[in-house]
Amino acid sequence: MSSPEPFESSQFLVLKDCLARRLLSCSDTLEPPSSSSEPELDDFSAYLAHEVWPTLPEAFRRASYETRSTLPDDLDSIPLNSTPGSFIDTLVSYGIAPDADAAQMFLRKVLADYASDACAPPPVWSSTRTKECEICEREIPLTYHHLIPRATHTKVLKKNLHPTSMLNSVAWLCRPCHTVVHQIATNEELARGYYSVSLLLGREDIQRWGKYASKQRFGVRRG
Ligand SMILES: [Zn+2]
Ligand SMILES: [Zn+2]
Repeated sequence: MSSPEPFESSQFLVLKDCLARRLLSCSDTLEPPSSSSEPELDDFSAYLAHEVWPTLPEAFRRASYETRSTLPDDLDSIPLNSTPGSFIDTLVSYGIAPDADAAQMFLRKVLADYASDACAPPPVWSSTRTKECEICEREIPLTYHHLIPRATHTKVLKKNLHPTSMLNSVAWLCRPCHTVVHQIATNEELARGYYSVSLLLGREDIQRWGKYASKQRFGVRRG
């Protein structure tokens, strides 16, 4: 399996998720990739996404809410003749698709999912407001944290790391949790690797902190 470094854009991860969802929905009728346990589905979808990503049209790889008009109306008209043999052979040998034509059909369905996910309107940040801190789950006064810190926006856009529509996504965090987030990573690291609440919660140090903070009373200092 190749390393995921070269493709870390939001769009690449959207494609990988779409592949994983389609693979999951195949696995009850067909032989699953080996077992449907999570890390394997993760590896399998990452592998397939890496194989096919470089062969997709540029407009597709940059698809976002802002660029949605650059995608063809009829997605079936997109030529898939450059789909790598490795992608097709893998689907066939794992029983996901009976033959090459079916593998192309599978890819078309994934691309349709991808186009609609990647071009979805951005969440309006004020409507994502939660009652509880998204890390420690306490119901205490919250601040908002720009998941892609504002100081990185120019660089992020220049490097095409995230579409403009992602720039204003926020997490609602209590002050102590917000401080911790900025202590564990630089703005650049946050923008590259921790631009969603679930990515933040995937870190062991954040989990440990969240568990600790959830038990702390707010406001009153005891002892
Ligand atoms: Zn908190
Ligand atoms: Zn912040």
